[in-house]
Amino acid sequence: MSAIDWKTLLDAATEVAAKAYAPYSNYTVGAAAYADDGRVLVGCNIENSSLGLTLCGECGLISSLYATGGGRLTAFLCVHGDGELVTPCGRCRQLLLEHGGPDLPILSPQGEVTLADLLPQHWLDYVPPERATNPHPDSRNRHPGLVPGSPDEVRPGGEPT
Ligand SMILES: [Zn+2]
Repeated sequence: MSAIDWKTLLDAATEVAAKAYAPYSNYTVGAAAYADDGRVLVGCNIENSSLGLTLCGECGLISSLYATGGGRLTAFLCVHGDGELVTPCGRCRQLLLEHGGPDLPILSPQGEVTLADLLPQHWLDYVPPERATNPHPDSRNRHPGLVPGSPDEVRPGGEPT
């Protein structure tokens, strides 16, 4: 049994889902997460008439993470409507990875999983070192001695390559 208080996040996500702006699909989403200092962060989806410019709830949540002091995500869930658990979309899995890492606990419709379960072989492993001027703590670029693809390399949440 997890020590994470998922009920608090579920209530927060359900509450913020009711504030979503989703006049085109009527598919309201609320997202909630804990930051490493215990803050509860929330976000809701904001649709746009162009549809392509629609923002997922996770976008607002991560903006809130930085707007309220920064840090790292330590647990996450998202809901539709009145509290039906859903999973983050592909783009948002990548967003969550950057700010919570592959071990981020996520309460999914199938139970508690990690982000690595939802996003195996993620992009963070493949950021070229020359682009990593400020290497992310979960990037393999923090291990400059590792040779990509070498037998010694083990990716977070994955099998040895
Ligand atoms: Zn999304």
